[in-house]
Amino acid sequence: MAELFYDADADLSIIQGRKVAVIGYGSQGHAHALSLRDSGVDVRVGLHEGSKSKAKAEEQGLRVVSPSEAAAEADVIMILVPDPIQAQVYEEHIKDNLNDGDALFFGHGLNIRYGFIKPPAGVDVCMVAPKGPGHLVRRQYEEGRGVPCIAAVEQDATGSGFELALSYAKGIGGTRAGVIKTTFTEETETDLFGEQAVLCGGTAALVKAGFETLTEAGYQPEIAYFECLHELKLIVDLMYEGGLEKMRWSISETAEWGDYVTGPRIITDATKAEMKKVLAEIQDGTFAKNWMDEYHGGLKKYNEYKQQDSEHLLETTGKELRKLMSWVDEEA
Ligand code: NDP
Ligand code: MG
Ligand code: MG
Repeated sequence: MAELFYDADADLSIIQGRKVAVIGYGSQGHAHALSLRDSGVDVRVGLHEGSKSKAKAEEQGLRVVSPSEAAAEADVIMILVPDPIQAQVYEEHIKDNLNDGDALFFGHGLNIRYGFIKPPAGVDVCMVAPKGPGHLVRRQYEEGRGVPCIAAVEQDATGSGFELALSYAKGIGGTRAGVIKTTFTEETETDLFGEQAVLCGGTAALVKAGFETLTEAGYQPEIAYFECLHELKLIVDLMYEGGLEKMRWSISETAEWGDYVTGPRIITDATKAEMKKVLAEIQDGTFAKNWMDEYHGGLKKYNEYKQQDSEHLLETTGKELRKLMSWVDEEA
């Protein structure tokens, strides 16, 4: 079983005794910086020239300096800029500002796991990754609750990296809910696999294939949209609340019977074999290398795929149908 840590296991005074730099003020950055500040931690935010979020951070009472200045002032540096540019930000602004005993923190392990960032031996390398988007992390903190986090130490130069990570997690409310100990390798590989095979890639492909099967058979796209996309939320909400059991308790017996006999015809042994290949390419670094090449090569295929899907009948149908449903908020 996983090792879990709560408020009583974490000493907030450790992070209160350090100087923290949060580099980036996006989804995660704003939540970490504001909640650490409210937990009595000395925080500065490091933002690049021309940053869109600089004014907001200052409005919210935070001191904003350049990423280099933030890294120079601080002894705990949390990197919360997009993963594909972290290595560049590290090389340009952080590397030369690291001293022995400092700690480098991440919200996701990709750059460390695949060696795009190679910190010097004298610094702690830690991860605190909330299992939720930044806006939820901040809202839960403000309400006196927290989003569960996972925490890891890749390099324990001081011998107290994990205590520091737990203290940081407490500062953003994570230990109120529970912190699970992991490794950079486990977090990175499972995160990439989950989003590709199941959450994003797998689900999007399943929805599109179902929708195409119905519309190609002559059914109306609007009806197909409701059956294959819209209703998915109701099903996922039930799974989220009570697993497969609650979902099956709520649906009709007919739907449940179809679930048992048809599900395995859709996700077959061949699908699972392909999942294992996907996982192997994540583990051996092929996926990460290809993605970095695509990103730094100007995102040509990425933009092509994005364009293709935006023109798909599923998307054009959904855009119109959602106008009929005032409670569905496109901006949320
Ligand atoms: P966002 O894209 O929301 O935020 C990016 C921030 O980085 C923005 O403030 C942006 O500035 C800033 N930025 C961009 N370029 C630079 C630069 N060159 N120098 C300094 N700052 C720069 O990122 P996320 O919060 O989504 O992701 C941050 C990390 O958190 C990633 O490692 C991600 O994997 C991880 N994570 C994200 C989760 C999420 O829910 N989003 C969940 C768990 C982990 P500007 O002000 O111009 O916008
Ligand atoms: Mg991810
Ligand atoms: Mg139905």
